[in-house]
Amino acid sequence: MARAAMNPGSFPLRALADAEPRPFWLDDPARPRALPALVGDERCDLLVVGGGYSGLWTALRAKERDPGRDIVLIEAQEAGWAASGRNGGFCAASLTHGLANGQARWPGELLRLEELGARNLDAIEAAVARYGLDCDFERTGEITVATAPHQVAEVREAAALAAGLGLDGGEFLDRDAVRAEVDSPAFLAGLWDRTGVAMLHPAKLAWGLKRACRALGVRIYEHTPGTALSSRGPGVAVRTPYGRVFARHAALGTNAFPSLIRRVRPYIAPVYDHALMTEPLDAERLAAVGWRRRQGLSDSANHFHYFRITADHRVLWGGYDIVHHYGSRVRAEYDHHPATYRRLAHHFFQYFPQLAGVRFSHAWGGAIDTCSRFSPFFGTAHHGRVAYALGFTGLGVGATRFGADVMLDLLAGERTERTGLELVRTKPLPFPPEPVRSLGIGLIQRSMTRADERGGRRDLWLRALDRAGFGFDS
Ligand SMILES: Cc1cc2nc3c(=O)[nH]c(=O)nc-3n(C[C@H](O)[C@H](O)[C@H](O)COP(=O)(O)OP(=O)(O)OC[C@H]3O[C@@H](n4cnc5c(N)ncnc54)[C@H](O)[C@@H]3O)c2cc1C
Repeated sequence: MARAAMNPGSFPLRALADAEPRPFWLDDPARPRALPALVGDERCDLLVVGGGYSGLWTALRAKERDPGRDIVLIEAQEAGWAASGRNGGFCAASLTHGLANGQARWPGELLRLEELGARNLDAIEAAVARYGLDCDFERTGEITVATAPHQVAEVREAAALAAGLGLDGGEFLDRDAVRAEVDSPAFLAGLWDRTGVAMLHPAKLAWGLKRACRALGVRIYEHTPGTALSSRGPGVAVRTPYGRVFARHAALGTNAFPSLIRRVRPYIAPVYDHALMTEPLDAERLAAVGWRRRQGLSDSANHFHYFRITADHRVLWGGYDIVHHYGSRVRAEYDHHPATYRRLAHHFFQYFPQLAGVRFSHAWGGAIDTCSRFSPFFGTAHHGRVAYALGFTGLGVGATRFGADVMLDLLAGERTERTGLELVRTKPLPFPPEPVRSLGIGLIQRSMTRADERGGRRDLWLRALDRAGFGFDS
């Protein structure tokens, strides 16, 4: 949709008037009570730091590999409160933040990465069934929609790239075909990946994983931040406010929060992504949009929206702005960004004018661990006793399970089908220190906005960064 048509002045602010400033997914009676904090010292074989998907999958996969392994997980607040409980719920097979990014960065191993990603998504679906993870998992696929003429060509190119690689990457939908699936006057074309993406309730996945871990014997302490990590004898020690954990190995799944390994911090720029949730649509409004097959959707601009329908027929509408704060700080007060909510709400009614009058029930944001290549990176510290997986950017719902397996491979010192990958062995380019970091990110964002306005044409600055392999995305 042409930017000129998006005039925030015409936006019906009323739709936001009742929006609760908290993540819809976490505002649920199924939210489990917090577990007690660690008081005193603990000893274990494997310490997992972080109770998002990364940490929870790591603990679960470690138990699946070796049921007798003694595992402790510490979480600074409550399992699933951060990105894992407040994301869009798009669980994608892609480990490379999409095929085009994978092709640009790892052409030689892209087919292997696609296969591993597809197996990872299948394994998540199998775990949902095996552990009874009640998270509204639906393998609906995702449609990437074109909303500007140049994006139609991009969507066709993406279809051709997948077909050229012999991948089941998607089916091109012309304007009528995409509007027959989900009706918006903004849609000009679409690419439907039918199998590579599932929709789920993000917080319920985290809560289900927490329950499954505990059932397998993982000891979880909440409201227990790890404040320092050091080598200790043949293992490591992690300090917490009321005690220490001594472990042979530690796995860090701390995402956008400052890593306990300082040298890793420059690789991450935490950015805030935001979303709105509507009230449930009644049958008449639902009929006006279609959406019978309940796919996830996203548009293909640099500043993109993602949107989907929930089990109770609400529309989640998120994305567009990517907000970075000076010093890459992560703070509770950054979760909310009214200017972004206004912009998102305005865009929503432009995409779905037939939903005029619908109100938003929730508005929220959360931090993403953006890295300059958009796909996760891995490493070890403290003589191989500590492993980390970071940089999932905006596509970690599925990839964190893969990351968990990589961390366990690295800690075991095993060469596996994962550890030999260039994706696993290499790191992204780091972000420069401040003030250059914020200045550079600001410049990139302005260039991306201009590219969206000018038929996708990237300026010299973006093209130079592309050549260097340095990107900024969510
Ligand atoms: C608004 C939003 C929308 C998104 N939408 C999607 C989407 O649709 N699809 C997708 O694939 N991805 C999406 N993402 C990204 C996805 O949610 C993340 O990639 C994923 O949840 C990362 O999981 P994680 O466990 O690494 O991080 P988190 O869920 O952030 O968990 C990290 C945990 O570590 C804890 N922690 C940090 N430091 C310490 C410490 N020192 N001691 C103890 N605990 C610590 C934190 O408290 C936190 O609970 C979105 C993210 C956001 C914010």
